[in-house]
Amino acid sequence: MSVGTDKTRTTSTAVDVRITTRAELALHGIRVDAEVRRPDGAGPSDDGHVLVDGANAALPTNPASPYTVRDGKVWLGEQDTGLAISPVQRPQFYRLSTEDGVSYEQIARLHGADVLATTVVQTCIRYGESDRCRFCTIEESLRSGATVAAKTPAQLAEVAEAAVRLDGVRQMVMTTGTTAGPDRGARNLVRSVRAVLEAVPGLPIQVQCEPPGDLRWIRDLHDAGATSIGIHVEALDEDVRRRWMPGKSTVPLAEYEAAWDEAVRVFGRNRVSTYLLVGLGENPDELIDGAAALIERGVYPFVVPFRPMRGTLAARDGIGAPSSEVLRYVTEAVAERLRRAGMSGADQKAGCAACGACSVLRSAGG
Ligand code: SF4
Repeated sequence: MSVGTDKTRTTSTAVDVRITTRAELALHGIRVDAEVRRPDGAGPSDDGHVLVDGANAALPTNPASPYTVRDGKVWLGEQDTGLAISPVQRPQFYRLSTEDGVSYEQIARLHGADVLATTVVQTCIRYGESDRCRFCTIEESLRSGATVAAKTPAQLAEVAEAAVRLDGVRQMVMTTGTTAGPDRGARNLVRSVRAVLEAVPGLPIQVQCEPPGDLRWIRDLHDAGATSIGIHVEALDEDVRRRWMPGKSTVPLAEYEAAWDEAVRVFGRNRVSTYLLVGLGENPDELIDGAAALIERGVYPFVVPFRPMRGTLAARDGIGAPSSEVLRYVTEAVAERLRRAGMSGADQKAGCAACGACSVLRSAGG
């Protein structure tokens, strides 16, 4: 164990408190009225969008949270946590609609302060109750009318152009529900990336999909102009995969590995990422080892806490979020390995790791 000076000890204690507080905020949320929200949708993240110490943060808005906002700071009861917080303002482009009357907000949404995110196809072949990922609500936002089932390339281009011009959006994330064809959704992403880049040349775009059955789609996504790619496995333990993702786990891990390797070959090291969820029951040390192996492959493991979002099967079954201790333990260990490998989320240029809002990795130095 090394012994630091009083100053270094004070600094590292302050950092520790920040990471702990950020982990607790990610899990318990905050009592705040966020203007920009994403209450449901594809994948495991929801929440109100704010800036914490200037960085994007997606936090559950929770009237029962012990954390509150006063004078631009996060408070725990009467204690000032030292974290600055400001809500993300409702963007201008939300006021616009396409000629045929679809509101831009139904086509793409602002995440954090500067990320435009869309789910190109809002349905998923795996959404039947016996197949569905237990943390996902991709079709709930469709049912609630918050979005439309399929976004055309032209619609995405129109909204992206407005979001960049009116609201200073700096990157875009395109995800998709899994489609029935062998490309598993990649074909629509290729068309969408091309159309957006014609309207907004140079906009960094991350695409997210399952490993396409034919790996040539990865090259096509890159050649269309995507900057980075997310191929999201969520868990590496086979039992956990089967329990939480009955449909998606029928794609063997070997297919993920082949897709990650091809994506690193095509997009480059640290332009490929995957979600790893903390709180699905995976052994934390095995999760950290799995993340380390991904880092070695050149893949950024975006560590995110599982949160029982409204409308998920997990919430229906009363499964709770992980403890902040476990979240912090895994996050710090993975952040340390990312630093050692010289991989930072910001270097992905586009996508969830570059945004960072749904994870605590950024606060931990990843
Ligand atoms: S990390 Fe990804 S899902 Fe979360 S707010 Fe950022 S872009 Fe959206």
